[in-house]
Amino acid sequence: MPDYPIHGQVDGTIVIIGFGSIGRGTLPLIERHLVFDSRSLVVIEPNPNARAFLKQHGVRHIEKALTRETYQEVLGSVFERGKGFCVNLSVDTSSLDIMRFCREWGVLYLDTVTEPWAGFYFETRDNARRTNYALRQAVRDEKARNPGGTTAVSCCGANPGMVSWFVKEALMTIAQDTGLRTSVPSTRAGWAKLMQTLGVKGIHIAERDTQQSSRRKQIGTFVNTWSTEGFIAEGFQPAELGWGTHERWFPEDGNHHSSGCKAAIWLARAGAITRVHSWCPTHGPQHGFLVTHNEAISISDYYTVHEGEDLQYRPTCHYAYHPCDDAVLSLHEAFGSGKIQDKHHILHQDEIVDGMDELGVLVYGHAKNAIWYGSSLTIDEARDLAPFQNATGLQVSSAVLAGMVWALENPNAGIVETDEMDHARCLEIQRPYLGTVTAQYTDWTPLTERWSQFEEEIDESDPWSFINILAT
Ligand code: NAD
Repeated sequence: MPDYPIHGQVDGTIVIIGFGSIGRGTLPLIERHLVFDSRSLVVIEPNPNARAFLKQHGVRHIEKALTRETYQEVLGSVFERGKGFCVNLSVDTSSLDIMRFCREWGVLYLDTVTEPWAGFYFETRDNARRTNYALRQAVRDEKARNPGGTTAVSCCGANPGMVSWFVKEALMTIAQDTGLRTSVPSTRAGWAKLMQTLGVKGIHIAERDTQQSSRRKQIGTFVNTWSTEGFIAEGFQPAELGWGTHERWFPEDGNHHSSGCKAAIWLARAGAITRVHSWCPTHGPQHGFLVTHNEAISISDYYTVHEGEDLQYRPTCHYAYHPCDDAVLSLHEAFGSGKIQDKHHILHQDEIVDGMDELGVLVYGHAKNAIWYGSSLTIDEARDLAPFQNATGLQVSSAVLAGMVWALENPNAGIVETDEMDHARCLEIQRPYLGTVTAQYTDWTPLTERWSQFEEEIDESDPWSFINILAT
């Protein structure tokens, strides 16, 4: 067995909440790289399908769903005050409530999205309330009310998560390649000033997932390479994006927020049917879906420059996601039929015959036009690197590991987003699991190689204006 580096030690209980595709992938990385008492590992997972696996691996299983009514009692029964680590990899549990509980108890905490309790995504017709902006702002408000204290890492997966570390690497690469002499900024304001100085207009979280199985998607089944429930929930939320100061056009169905950081807007339509023009290295120009994600808001917020009360600079930022082809078909079917499929299927590493997940940040609008900085991880590489996960899963679980290590090294940092963490340290931990990590410049803009048979409203004076990015 290879000698894996040990990155840290957890005293007390490690609790993994949710043992779906990401939980299964994260467990072996925790076992490889962290020292802990294996008798103190607990998985809370209501699905009985996890039972045999956990029994075989000697892991204590609490076969329950956490609810608003039970979470304190269940978590209180497994943690001791002042030690332990809670890794929340579930759907339908409130990240904010669980994070609060952990901080009160002095237990380290990490999640990969800001999840709400079950029902949030579909229970209201007030779309502003269903946004990730609202979910994130509640966590930011909690941070402002209770600064410092036990570390809780919010939204530390691949995206949100790792991509925020890539943004910083991309900025340093552009600085070097354009001859800007700068040291690595050490503050939020320093990073924001660097992005502004480089003339960056915006960032796409640009992803192309080409993983496929040899079995065709069946009608009536929603297929994806990670949580089907998670993707359906975010896909049906309104499209959202961080709104940059260079934008001169405003979408007809765009909406501002009246409170909070005000870094983002939402569109009065579902993200998973909102297409944008974007670019990834292997297949070049593509349509991606503008699905709402925490990082679209956090990155725009983090890189904002104010002069006194005046907003001086902010980049546009959004997801441009081309999921695996079966997921594209699944969305087409769900939106077309007006109903979400009863059957769900996450493509398993053993049934995927080829493909990769190419996930990075396309940082655009500067002197060198655009750079894509990211990870291209094939299914074969993923299978060789770690068990129980496909390429998408490994990009997420390795970010969870990096976030856990950072939290162990910084146990009193309070509530943090990945933009606020040491990106170099986190990538040092994660990089062995990311396949090829590259920085690639491109001449492509949303106005290049565009299908132009029909007239459309475009702004030729600024190729990177959102009007040109949003597909009609
Ligand atoms: P999954 O659907 O495969 O697994 C989620 C698990 O949570 C399921 O096994 C489910 O039974 C369990 N669960 C549901 N309700 C629960 C409750 N009340 N209490 C405890 N467990 C409960 O999802 P996944 O692919 O493993 O993703 C897990 C989480 O990670 C999701 O929130 C997803 O959105 C997020 N995610 C983040 C990223 C990222 O890059 N940031 C990427 C992929 C997934």
